[in-house]
Amino acid sequence: MNESNPSSATQSLGFQLQGISLFLFIPLVLFFFVRHPEPLALWIPLACVIMIGHRSLARPYAAQAVPIKCIWCNRVLPRSLDSASASFDLAAGGIVVPVRTCRQHARPASRFFRFLWAGRLPFRIGIFIPLLLLLVSLGKGIAGDRGWIPLATVVFQLAVALTVNFIALGPWMSAKVGNPSPIPVPFPLHNFYLLGVRTLLWLFRLVGLWWVLVVFLHPWPAVP
Ligand SMILES: [Zn+2]
Repeated sequence: MNESNPSSATQSLGFQLQGISLFLFIPLVLFFFVRHPEPLALWIPLACVIMIGHRSLARPYAAQAVPIKCIWCNRVLPRSLDSASASFDLAAGGIVVPVRTCRQHARPASRFFRFLWAGRLPFRIGIFIPLLLLLVSLGKGIAGDRGWIPLATVVFQLAVALTVNFIALGPWMSAKVGNPSPIPVPFPLHNFYLLGVRTLLWLFRLVGLWWVLVVFLHPWPAVP
């Protein structure tokens, strides 16, 4: 894709806007889970449907993005391989995925995915266990017992904030974590293609810090 060509530039913009739109479903779902607006019985099931259904839109988008986007900075690259771009292999869903980067972004991107793989167990625990606890407490809330929701919410925010901030250290932390090839990806690969890894990690850092502040600036909820 020649970026000096206006029609290609328009296509690139449209493609990027599509990625941003698909990304926005993620904060929307988090809003429903963390702020849990009324009525719970409407918004929480809807958020679960969005969370589960999101992949059916995001995966086809990522399939289009893999051959043309830098996975790190999200730039649309020329379609033909040249000296200004680089490539390395990830493994996702049992398939080897040759991902592309700008030449200077191959290093931070591959370091990040090596670190993500090395820390996959604590990272998964840090995200999915608090999510499960929050969903159970919201489910009980729909059934009439809301007592656990405030505590489950702050535990979720704190655990996820700390975990994603740790994940965001990846580009600097992988010197000693091995170098599998292809590098297995322990989280859904399509989510890294919506904004690019670099922007996603900045959101992790900023939202993570915000959530830590929110948790500590409010009284800790009592155990019901
Ligand atoms: Zn790049």
